[in-house]
Amino acid sequence: MARIIAVANQKGGVGKTTTTVNVAAALAYLGKKVLLIDSDAQGNATSGLGISKADVDKDIYDVLVNQIPIADAVQPSSRENLWVVPATIQLAGAEIELTNQPHREARLRNAIKELATEYDYVFIDCPPSLGHLTINAFTASDAVLIPVQCEYYALEGLSQLLNTFRLVQKHFNKDLKIEGVLLTMLDARTNLGFEVVEEVKKYFKEKVYNTIIPRNVRLSEAPSYGQSIIDYDIRSKGAEVYLELAKEVLADGE
Ligand code: ADP
Ligand code: MG
Repeated sequence: MARIIAVANQKGGVGKTTTTVNVAAALAYLGKKVLLIDSDAQGNATSGLGISKADVDKDIYDVLVNQIPIADAVQPSSRENLWVVPATIQLAGAEIELTNQPHREARLRNAIKELATEYDYVFIDCPPSLGHLTINAFTASDAVLIPVQCEYYALEGLSQLLNTFRLVQKHFNKDLKIEGVLLTMLDARTNLGFEVVEEVKKYFKEKVYNTIIPRNVRLSEAPSYGQSIIDYDIRSKGAEVYLELAKEVLADGE
């Protein structure tokens, strides 16, 4: 059975998509069979793995709203062992269209069931909100991976995220866990970054990954080539740290 991990934080720009794409690619590189589900209407994970949004026929919207079989929406990516359920801008309508639908929170969980035995890992890239899409991701997942940017107000908004986490745990998915908290975009030249690291560790304790993602320009360049950091520049610091994170995720599952 696949281990299903939602990557979530309702703040935008904290490194959710970068983390989803690159930890998924790193696990694929290490020989695991991985599915990435893009659940953000911006579709950055989709294009970041070499899939042209203009050419997408079936996407996650069709799975959630029209309830087509998820297998019909799965596409190969630019990385071996890594497949993608793409997102396009039509997903922007899903939040409203799912309102008033029966069992709307379980759409993704029910869809994933049919292929959970085909993959070792499923990663879900969540949108920057705590609406139906994130609730669907939490309901479908074994655990939540929370990227936190090493910036002022890093912890701000995390109590709402944890409230949503507990709400889903209580009503829809009692076994949901925190997979880990990942510190991202650390600028090693300033004290602030390290102060934030200490603050986040004080709050989340052993839930914080040992791996810390530094700012690395190669990580921000890779998506425009439609490649993960593993394929864009395996010798970069960015590739090194996401491989290290992938090994932590592997160890957690054992
Ligand atoms: P989110 O999905 O949370 O909105 P992204 O992963 O899209 O965040 O990251 C926001 C921006 O920061 C993107 O332009 C991305 O390329 C860049 N970025 C993310 N992580 C890093 C990093 N470690 N070093 C440099 N740039 C990064
Ligand atoms: Mg994103």
